[in-house]
Amino acid sequence: MTDSRPKSPQKIDNTTTVDTSMEEVANTSSTHDLSHSEIDVTSRDSQEKDPLKSSTPCSSDVSNISVPHLPLNNVTDYIDTALICHPSIKIELKNCANLLCSEEILTFYTDGSVQNIGTTHSLSGYGWIQTQPLTPRISFKGSTVFFPSSSKSESMGILTALLVAPFNCRINIYTDSANCITTFNTRMHLGIVSPHQKLKQSNFLLWDLIFLLINQKNLLVTLHKVPGHSNNLYNDEADTLAKAGAHIREPIIINHKFFAHQSLGFASWNRLHVIDRNVRKWADNVIQPLIFNSMINNKALTPIKKQILDGEIDWTFTKEWLNHNNSDALCSINLSKQQGNKIKKCNFIYPTIDIQQRNYPHLYPLGSIPCIQCSDAHDVNAHVGLCNDHSNDVVTILMEAAYDLYDIIIDNYSGTPFALRETIESSPLFNITFSGALSQTHPGYLLIHHLVPSDLTTIFYNYIKDKKLRFSIFIKFFKTLMRKVDSYIWVKRYSLIKSWERILSITKNKK
Ligand SMILES: [Zn+2]
Repeated sequence: MTDSRPKSPQKIDNTTTVDTSMEEVANTSSTHDLSHSEIDVTSRDSQEKDPLKSSTPCSSDVSNISVPHLPLNNVTDYIDTALICHPSIKIELKNCANLLCSEEILTFYTDGSVQNIGTTHSLSGYGWIQTQPLTPRISFKGSTVFFPSSSKSESMGILTALLVAPFNCRINIYTDSANCITTFNTRMHLGIVSPHQKLKQSNFLLWDLIFLLINQKNLLVTLHKVPGHSNNLYNDEADTLAKAGAHIREPIIINHKFFAHQSLGFASWNRLHVIDRNVRKWADNVIQPLIFNSMINNKALTPIKKQILDGEIDWTFTKEWLNHNNSDALCSINLSKQQGNKIKKCNFIYPTIDIQQRNYPHLYPLGSIPCIQCSDAHDVNAHVGLCNDHSNDVVTILMEAAYDLYDIIIDNYSGTPFALRETIESSPLFNITFSGALSQTHPGYLLIHHLVPSDLTTIFYNYIKDKKLRFSIFIKFFKTLMRKVDSYIWVKRYSLIKSWERILSITKNKK
């Protein structure tokens, strides 16, 4: 691997770090500490020689870590330079490496653990146990931070096992992570990965390091799948280690400067960590909590606040529906009108009478104007669907939708779907046993407002495993359903309002 060596010993890192300076990353923060003052000694030594950096010798800024000269000569050098962590963790790993230094075959059971994922208290841990007969029975556990996921934790387990292995060693790794095995095998067979492909791969730094170790230490690595719940003692032990590892407050992260030979531009978050995944998807994910916050604080959405908080709305499918283009044209007046209407309905800002009164105070009568259909409530967005006059139509819509859903799943399912009829019948969405008006807590209320209830998508997730097919048949199903919602509820209401407005000589021209 001569091309991986820096061209001269003085070569500085040619990776570019773009600081995104995001202040809030609610879903990626974690409760682990990154001890700013205790980052590896090598980096500090090198910084002290650089007068420009001497003012911040204790920063954990990823751009301040020294550049190693690859390949390295011994196992402990890799531990020293490839990781950013507390020195005591490096000592622990080096001790493991020393105990294994003369072995030719090693067997590891590795596991990962993620707790409280999606919250600010997430914990990621991993652990392994070395079980090759007649070799030292040693184990290790650790934690990591940023982008928690079970596959990241699992791969950190594999990485730390490879770090302590001696050169020219044959290694068997037993893991229950099918995801890791797939990633490993794909990279193995793919050989060189293009920067474009790599930037889209999750945890690419971690996998880069795994393959760098395999190449430079000349390791022969085989991954084996441990069947889940197989009651394998070693696997259970690795699981216990991983769970305990998650609570270790000092995490291990990968020193991106270790890959100085790469010409990839990295984006970093808050100068702390490289965003080693699809940046576009990551950014989208990061703003989700912000969108969420703005939604629950949005006064117009008060009628569905509880549903938002309880996760009763499937935002992925709602987004898919709102973006759906019913026509062939990429843009048209009709399309923007259609999408505008959907957006107004789901944001509860559709021009019901209360909004018209506010916008055209000289045209509409003062005071509260009752619903034209039931006269029992004010004509506001929240009332649409809850009106007594809508309830029969709602029942019809839901009943027909239940049959349509059954048919569309049968048509797209190979074989006989298990308990499909029972699943649909017992879904709260298709519960039509209510008497009188629809209740605000019924998932059907969300439907009326063009929001996709999670109760509906659960059925799609359960029966349609293929993601593309799931979206496409969902749209097909939902289009028919929403056409009925619009014509039975919204259009019916609209035409009644129009006749009432004509009596009051409120016309479009006057607005
Ligand atoms: Zn009404």
